[in-house]
Amino acid sequence: MKGSKKRVVSKPSSSRTIVKANPNDNKSVTIEPPIVSSYNDQIRPLLDTVDRLRNLNVMKEGIQLPTIVVVGDQSSGKSSVLESLAGISLPRGQGICTRVPLVMRLQGSTSSKPEIWLEYSDKVVQTDEEHIAEAISAATDVIAGSSKGVSDAPLTLHVKKAGAPDLTMVDLPGIIRVPVKGQPENIHEQISGMIMKYIKPQESIILNVLSATVDFTTCESIRMSRQVDKTGERTLAVVTKADMAPEGLLQKVTADDVSIGLGYVCVRNRVGEETYEEARDQEELLFKTHPMLSMIDENIVGLPVLAQKLIHIQTTMISRCLPEIVRKINHKMETADLELKKLPMVMTSTGEALMTLMDIIASAKESLLRILIQGDFSEFPDNHGMHGTARLADMLSKFSDDLQAKPKQVREFLMDEIKVLEEYKCVGLPNFIPRSAFMAILSQHVDDIHAKPVEFIKNLWDYIEVVLSSIITKYSENFPQVQPSIKRAGRNLMSKIKEQSVDRVIQIVEMEKLTDYTCSPEYMKSWTEKIDAQKSFVDAVLNVIGTIRLTCARRKAREDWKRMTWRETLRF
Ligand code: GDP
Ligand code: MG
Repeated sequence: MKGSKKRVVSKPSSSRTIVKANPNDNKSVTIEPPIVSSYNDQIRPLLDTVDRLRNLNVMKEGIQLPTIVVVGDQSSGKSSVLESLAGISLPRGQGICTRVPLVMRLQGSTSSKPEIWLEYSDKVVQTDEEHIAEAISAATDVIAGSSKGVSDAPLTLHVKKAGAPDLTMVDLPGIIRVPVKGQPENIHEQISGMIMKYIKPQESIILNVLSATVDFTTCESIRMSRQVDKTGERTLAVVTKADMAPEGLLQKVTADDVSIGLGYVCVRNRVGEETYEEARDQEELLFKTHPMLSMIDENIVGLPVLAQKLIHIQTTMISRCLPEIVRKINHKMETADLELKKLPMVMTSTGEALMTLMDIIASAKESLLRILIQGDFSEFPDNHGMHGTARLADMLSKFSDDLQAKPKQVREFLMDEIKVLEEYKCVGLPNFIPRSAFMAILSQHVDDIHAKPVEFIKNLWDYIEVVLSSIITKYSENFPQVQPSIKRAGRNLMSKIKEQSVDRVIQIVEMEKLTDYTCSPEYMKSWTEKIDAQKSFVDAVLNVIGTIRLTCARRKAREDWKRMTWRETLRF
């Protein structure tokens, strides 16, 4: 930590040597300048993959990619940090400069001529190093208007330049507490919402830019990043303006009052009209020679260190997230594939249309057979309404209960029957009920329940119509051209069958009234009991008759005996 550590001093040239910034490695090693990307072959394909995914706009599909999101209070130096990393000029200064999310895609290149272009709202605008700031300002005006408002529609800046680190970062508008003239009253909420949207995904790395001139505990950006990353495991802090407030900076970054899990890097950005080279040299000189700043650990100072750290963090994050990203993409692809298959087929001839219609009818028929006859509900496991046989059984058992239910209005026992008998009395055998009376009583009972079977059959067909409609919808959903016609045909067919069915039930009920047939369980029960008891009854009767005969014979014999003369008796 002490400035006594050996620090390698670089010469102000692009091929200078600097300290290696591996956060896990405390040894000072000379390496290529960090801004000149020194990728090993295994890391590069990972970054290319993520880049390709970003190009394919997978984020629009809700798949988050590892992204470094730059947050910080207004004028904390966010844009300055980014331009230092990229070696390009961005709009920076007092007041609000960054008004839309600026996605910066930095990429190293072997070509000496940098390639720089902007992408926004389906537009591609080529630009060059001298005009980047102007081009960004112009694009921002197009996206967010020329006043001081903000917008969350992103603007992408591609920088392909020799020496640029392979990093993709998002620069966000700084947090403003009080709206200035020309800004909407809710600007704070708008910006906070935008920041939250970018830092919330677990795949985001939060680069919290803090000005050395402020007390970190008062920083709004710290408060926000802690809301989404409590332990700070994906938050890295960059302390800017080290040159402006060197006093106490060492204590601030070592005390870590605000839980920054990935650590701090102190930097000095480009000031005024300095060139990047000059700025780097000034920074190096500052951290090497300043009595207070030189006390800070060399592994946490300087833009090159920041670049290396970011690359390292980004790579770790990518390798951690990639398997999950692949899984999500596969899942999305499967869903998309299914949806694609559901899309309506293009039918070019009547023959094709007819074939399709026959297919729909055949599939619907098969499905109805399974649901209403075979009791196979594998097509609709969770939709109980479509479990046909079970629902039909429910309806039948409810119907049976309804038929057996006692009439609501309590009748006096057998009074109706007695009244009928009174009215149907005639000259005939005593103790025999006239058939007409019996028919009248039966008809009265059938009348009481005659509406129930009709109601039942209507309900039954209503239910079948619902099932049919769902099946037709399912099998014809890919054919919106024919769906309404198929549905209409289904409905017409159903209403015809329903009508026929209801007529048939009414006929059956009427027939019940005309014949002395019944299937009343009570009647059948007592009839069976009686028939079973018939033999014993007959036997009993025969027994009684036998006994009577015997008694009569005995009595007769006694009387005959009494009438005999005594001479006859003696002879006997
Ligand atoms: P942003 O609003 O967070 O993007 O902040 P800017 O990058 O626009 O910087 C705000 C002001 O601070 C600008 O005038 C910069 O030149 C200045 N600035 C940024 N970083 C440093 C630094 O490290 N040292 C000094 N002296 N000034 C800086
Ligand atoms: Mg800015």
